[in-house]
Amino acid sequence: MSNKVLIIFTGGTIAMKIDPDLHAAIPALNADEIISTVTNIKNYAELEIMNFCNLPSPHITPKLMMELASVVKKNIERDDITGVVITHGTDTLEETAYLLDLVIKSDKPIVVVGAMRNYSELGYDGSSNLSAAICTAISPRAKKQGVLVVMNNEVNAASEVTKTNTLSLDTFKSPEFGPLGIVDNDEVIFYREKIKSQFIDTQFIEEKVALIKCGPGMESDIINLYIDAGYKGMVIEALGRGNVPPKMMSGIVRAIKSNIPVVMVSRCHTGRVLDTYGYEGGGKHLRDVGVIFGGFLPGQKARIKLMLVLGKTQNLNEVKELFEYNINERK
Ligand code: ASP
Repeated sequence: MSNKVLIIFTGGTIAMKIDPDLHAAIPALNADEIISTVTNIKNYAELEIMNFCNLPSPHITPKLMMELASVVKKNIERDDITGVVITHGTDTLEETAYLLDLVIKSDKPIVVVGAMRNYSELGYDGSSNLSAAICTAISPRAKKQGVLVVMNNEVNAASEVTKTNTLSLDTFKSPEFGPLGIVDNDEVIFYREKIKSQFIDTQFIEEKVALIKCGPGMESDIINLYIDAGYKGMVIEALGRGNVPPKMMSGIVRAIKSNIPVVMVSRCHTGRVLDTYGYEGGGKHLRDVGVIFGGFLPGQKARIKLMLVLGKTQNLNEVKELFEYNINERK
């Protein structure tokens, strides 16, 4: 059986060098230059290279993520392809990986990878991360695992992983569940299965979805601004178990009455939201006015999911059903 891996390059620190005039990192390496740092990889896999873009990941938009998804969909079922690796900037890597996980249905491995140190820095980690990603993409064990994120020899599920540190090489963690496994030399070892996946069958994405973080004393002004600016959905990172300051309630109610779905997640690092509290702005109040509960998802992931759900339907009941589909909560 062939071990051909399609590597799609999109940019990020893995493709950056320090510019001598700017004294700061910018996109500079092309695909061949990056591959040439991964010594001996051709003894393991045949590589096909695709240059999708060379952007810092803060420049990647949801529309570009959807274009990337359609390129992956087109190629992943080719008979000669064993798996796909995507290189990406780490800042928004979790969003792209999660979007791909939600919209692509394939048993073949799809692995997203980046680097924390650019090519000019001591100890560029692009080579070891990319070799681990390629070894994962050719591993039969990585089949049927959905989209994976491989960094620092750890394998995490795109649906569970988040960037936890601005600097560390082991920044990608699944704080709620732990890693799926490791890459030990060239061998991929899985410790556990990931939580159930969801497939959202859509070609479209609604980009006008706001992400609002709660703090004490916040009011509805920011919510009203988003409503008036024509936003189609909102994700609120609520306090603790899922509660908001009382003065945010009027904006939330106005949004829902204007057919704008409001998803609530927690600003806490881990844990699900639930309708535990009955006071004004508490989870029970939010549930009763029609807020959608986002489980353990961090705000940035919930935003991607809501964008995709809104790409499929704008009907509030359908949005709620699709969003909460595999979020195992009391209703
Ligand atoms: N700022 C960079 C980016 O996301 C960080 C990285 O790739 O590690 O493009």
